[in-house]
Order: sequence, then structure tokens, then C-alpha cells
Amino acid sequence: MCDQATIDQIQDLLGKNWTYRTIAVRLGMSREAVADLVASANEAKRRKKPGPVTKRLLKFQAIPPTRCPRCGAMIVASPCVACYLRLIGATRPSPNLDE
Ligand SMILES: [Zn+2]
Repeated sequence: MCDQATIDQIQDLLGKNWTYRTIAVRLGMSREAVADLVASANEAKRRKKPGPVTKRLLKFQAIPPTRCPRCGAMIVASPCVACYLRLIGATRPSPNLDE
């Protein structure tokens, strides 16, 4: 296990275009250990950053659910889908029994 200061130092040296090999020699570590630390730091950074789906969900959670003024269903966007479909006169397609 390694401390955050070492990880920061590795990332700083990588920013200066040092190779894993030279960083490993400088810090007295194996090249594989340097690569593992960089990979785990990148993974941790990736996990903290919300993806597009998470961002959309967080946006929805920010809107408090309310009641539809027409039917009373709990909704997050007005008008609710059921009332919207009733409003535009959409009907369920009936099965064609002749075929
Ligand atoms: Zn409704």
C-alpha cells in the first residue's frame, strides 16, 4: 500500500513525461507497482466522476415529485404521460381480427 503523497508524486512525474521505469528507479519501487498505483488512482478518479446516466438520475431526483392536476398520479414532469395521451386522443391500436 502507498500513501497519497507518493501517488501525487508519481502523477506529477508522469506529467513531466517520466517513464514508469525511471519513476520506479527514483522511488525504489518496481515498475509494476508504479503501473498498479497509476491504474488504481485512475480507477478511483473514474468512480468519483458520475457518468451520463447517473447525471440524468441526479437531475430527476432534484425535482420533487408532485401530483398531476388532472388524474392525481405522482409525476416529475407535467403533464403526466397518461393525461398527455388522453389529451391528444391517442388510442391503443386494436388488433385486426380479420387477418
Ligand atoms: Zn395525469
